[in-house]
Amino acid sequence: MKLYNLKDHTDIVSFSQATKQGLGRNQGLFFPQQLPLFSPVDIEQLLTMNFTQRSAKILSALIGKEIAYTDIQRCVNNAFQFPAPVKAVEQDIGTLELFHGPTLAFKDFGARFMAQILVQVAAQNKITVLTATSGDTGAAVAHAFHHLPNVRVVILYPNGKISPLQEKLFCTLGDNIQTIAVDGDFDACQSLVKQAFDDAELKQTIGLNSANSINISRLLAQICYYFEAYAQLTPTQRHNLVISVPSGNFGNLTAGLFAKSIGLPIKRFIAATNLNDTVPRYLDTGKWLPHATVATLSNAMDVSRPNNWPRIEEIFKRQQWSLQSLSHGAVNDEVTQQTLRELDKKGYLSEPHGAVAYRVLRDQLQTGEYGLFLGTAHPAKFKQVVEAILQRQIELPQALAERIDLPLLSHTMPSDFTRLRTFLMEHEE
Ligand SMILES: *Cc1c(COP(=O)(O)O)cnc(C)c1O
Repeated sequence: MKLYNLKDHTDIVSFSQATKQGLGRNQGLFFPQQLPLFSPVDIEQLLTMNFTQRSAKILSALIGKEIAYTDIQRCVNNAFQFPAPVKAVEQDIGTLELFHGPTLAFKDFGARFMAQILVQVAAQNKITVLTATSGDTGAAVAHAFHHLPNVRVVILYPNGKISPLQEKLFCTLGDNIQTIAVDGDFDACQSLVKQAFDDAELKQTIGLNSANSINISRLLAQICYYFEAYAQLTPTQRHNLVISVPSGNFGNLTAGLFAKSIGLPIKRFIAATNLNDTVPRYLDTGKWLPHATVATLSNAMDVSRPNNWPRIEEIFKRQQWSLQSLSHGAVNDEVTQQTLRELDKKGYLSEPHGAVAYRVLRDQLQTGEYGLFLGTAHPAKFKQVVEAILQRQIELPQALAERIDLPLLSHTMPSDFTRLRTFLMEHEE
């Protein structure tokens, strides 16, 4: 698989290189030069396989000979160790639950596959993954790399500024996962990470890698669960399928559009956002006018400059689809709360991100269509918010309940690059 840089088409790299590098020159995103196309007969055949077998086939068709099929198969088996079930919500609406992984959100799929691939392509070279988190991404990265050989993971987070539940989720792992509570805010953590990447000697010595969210390997992994959703539907449901994606940085929607590009018959997609609605407004007016980011109940979607958007534009251009065919809608917090209660009355316990996607889907679904919305997080991940809205207690899944009693293993550190540098160079523990 060859990929080009969207900001400089002469910057062309292999899939392995793109995964190691993350971004290209001038911070440009990598985009596949060619995509495979599965015929309707191929699709039928894929649908008869189980999740991991099918995913290995799809990823191998995308990645090509650069990584041996058996290696891809092993990466998939190690990464996708939990299901992605479709649950019925109404007669004409279902949800694809993507939150059965270790950190209770869809990001586990992408993070775990990326981790497997990074270790695979690094061969025997040691890598250090350094990342700053305000809570969620750090957890997905930590779990994804836990116990993998030749990788050390260092995660910085603002001391006292993430929820106790979040902290337990990734600061209790130990082994090759080191967590540092920095005396400062999230920006201070990000600035420390940036200084580390600007330090050429450090970068070289410890094999720094960012494993960040725009990595192409994550998006390829996410294509697989759109096929998994489709495989679980009846022929009637498949016929006029509409998928609503709760969007922040638009990685999930990018993966869905790739799935359609390689032959999965999806009628249309809905881009659903909260009040950070740069994309819906752009699709309505043709003007790209990001506002200041506002805090909402669906906080993983509080993004006003979605960094995957250039990839979406490129897909529409390359496929010669009209951007007009991308349905869209934005939902405020009040409607999100009402919707969560409405879903609960129907017997489906959701959380704010899923509720946003359901709302826009319900409002825009036409007769004869079948709608799926992506359930991107487990309700327990947003326990406090969900309990306040529904006025009742919800239970923690067992894996998380068990973590609560484990001791925190974090180091603490002032917001001082010299201290971080020493820590990184020491290779302690
Ligand atoms: C990250 C995230 C989103 C947004 O996904 P994008 O791929 O960034 O659009 C939605 N819901 C939850 C729970 C998330 O963690």
